[in-house]
Amino acid sequence: MVNRGMSKRTHNILFPNCYLCMSANNRRLRRLVVDILFDKGALTRTQIAEELARVRSLREVPSDNSLSSVLAKNVQLESVGFAKVEKLNGNKTKHMIFDIKRELITTREEIEQTRPMSCMTASERRLAIRCPQCGKHRILPEGSDICIHCIKGL
Ligand SMILES: [Zn+2]
Repeated sequence: MVNRGMSKRTHNILFPNCYLCMSANNRRLRRLVVDILFDKGALTRTQIAEELARVRSLREVPSDNSLSSVLAKNVQLESVGFAKVEKLNGNKTKHMIFDIKRELITTREEIEQTRPMSCMTASERRLAIRCPQCGKHRILPEGSDICIHCIKGL
């Protein structure tokens, strides 16, 4: 959704994670990656791509580039180290390992509560409230008036 008087390029620079721009498929992809890591534990990008290939709800398996960008710009994920992988020619190479932020996310509910607005489903967006402490829109834990990031100080 491009604002009037602003080029698409400027808009994308100012709002890289605009929830109106992000395609439904990209949103689904971002949610899936978090769910896969929650269930399977830390994985490399190649392993994540293998898991995604098994998921039927995804229209197409993402390219290496789009998967890299999902992994890099994701507040629910972090890199937790490297795996040494041996190539066919015998050379060893390092692959980054990704995981959900385990301190932040310990339950499925906390996956929802840490989900950025840009990745929410329409029904999640209706439940989201602006956290008065950090100013981000999140689904707040029951009985709390601040978001889970602020509660945990993460
Ligand atoms: Zn907050």
